Formats: sequence, C-alpha cells, structure tokens
Amino acid sequence: MISIAENLEKTARRIREAAKEAERDPDGVQLLAVSKKKPASAIREAAECGQLAFGENYVQEALEKMEALKDLPDLEWHYIGPIQSNKTRVIAEHFDWVHSVDRLKVAQRLSEQRPEEMGPLNLCLQVNIDEAPTKSGVAPESTLELARAVAALPRCRLRGLMAIPDPSNDPEVQRRRFRELASLLAELRRGMDNGGLDTLSMGMSGDLEAAIAEGATIVRLGTALFGARD
Ligand SMILES: *Cc1c(COP(=O)(O)O)cnc(C)c1O
Repeated sequence: MISIAENLEKTARRIREAAKEAERDPDGVQLLAVSKKKPASAIREAAECGQLAFGENYVQEALEKMEALKDLPDLEWHYIGPIQSNKTRVIAEHFDWVHSVDRLKVAQRLSEQRPEEMGPLNLCLQVNIDEAPTKSGVAPESTLELARAVAALPRCRLRGLMAIPDPSNDPEVQRRRFRELASLLAELRRGMDNGGLDTLSMGMSGDLEAAIAEGATIVRLGTALFGARD
C-alpha cells in the first residue's frame, strides 16, 4: 500500500536536494500535487500532511472532488488540462490558477467569466516547447504576442509559462527543453517590463531535478505522490 505521507516526505527531500544542487532556495520551488484520476480521499490525506495545492485535468472530475472537500477551505486548485471553450465558465468560477492557456480566446473568456468577488485568476501560458505539430501549447515564437494580450485582461493575472516536454530519460535532453522555456520567460520579462512574471511551471515525477536545475518555480507531481494512475 502506498503512503501519501511518506511520498510527500520523499518528494520534499527530492525537491530540497535538487534545489541545493542548483544553489537555489528550496522555498522557491512549490509542489503542485497532481490528483487527476485519484479520489478525494487521497487529496484529503495529502492535505492533512499540509499539502494544499492540487492540480486537476478534467473539469467534471475536479468539481466532484471540490464538492466532497468543501470543508477544507484552504485548498488551492490549479487547472492543468486541455481547455474547451464551453468549459471556461466553470474553470473561471472554481479554480485559483490555470496553467494551460494557449490561445487568446480562452483567456478572454476566462477573464470575462471570472466572478468579481473572487480576485484575479492566475494564468500561465502553455508553450509547445518541442514544437511538435500534434501537441497543444502556443508556439515559442508567438508567445510574446499572446503574453502581451493576456496581460491586458482585467480579471486575470499572467504569472508565467508552463510546458510538458516529450518524456526523455536523458537528463541533458530534459534540461535543454526546460532551459528553452526559462529563456523564453526571460525574454517575456524583458519585453514586458517584468510584468509580474514569476512562474515557471515545469517538471513532473520523472524530470523534476532537471526542471529545478533550470529554474522551475512550480513542479507538478502526480505519480511520485499518489502512485501510478490506471
Ligand atoms: C498528469 C500530469 C502531471 C503529473 O505527471 P506525473 O508524471 O504523474 O508526475 C503534470 N502535469 C500535467 C499537465 C499532467 O497532465
């Protein structure tokens, strides 16, 4: 049986060691627990250990878990899955962050539909860093233009960039993709007068060390915490 408490501890250690190796402050790396396909009880168990930020990929599944966990008001919900236009309202009404914005129309809808009383919705742009034709994400060369347009939306706050590079077992290949995303963020900062861009959402269970070495501020881990998904 897997112990979520133990996995959280092991993961915190992995993050600390990777930060130390990179001569970074470990507090500069936030753990996002990716709970897709895992039950509300797993989230509750992680929350009891102090883990409060959770990532979900499917709107309906996330809403059910939010409902089951509404006695835990401190949970922070991050939407990290593909976004269909007809789902933007529920996302805007229920999440604190969205990592997977890759077109202006979706960001405009999120901004229009964000309830006034909720405070701005935090957004990251998902970049197709491998430039694979079949993958979602904005092309690297179009990112600055999209970022400028998204940053102007009133009910959203653009925080940075996210990517899901093709899996690789070669740490050098992993690092190269993450380095490209980091330099794209640096380019955006220069082109947008910094613009409050403080987030690099990159690194998963198999490549978090490489991501932290290249400047990740949020690592998104599922398997390492909750075990394999079926
Ligand atoms: C599923 C998923 C993760 C977590 O992946 P693991 O390999 O299980 O750690 C991270 N980010 C996104 C966008 C995902 O869809």
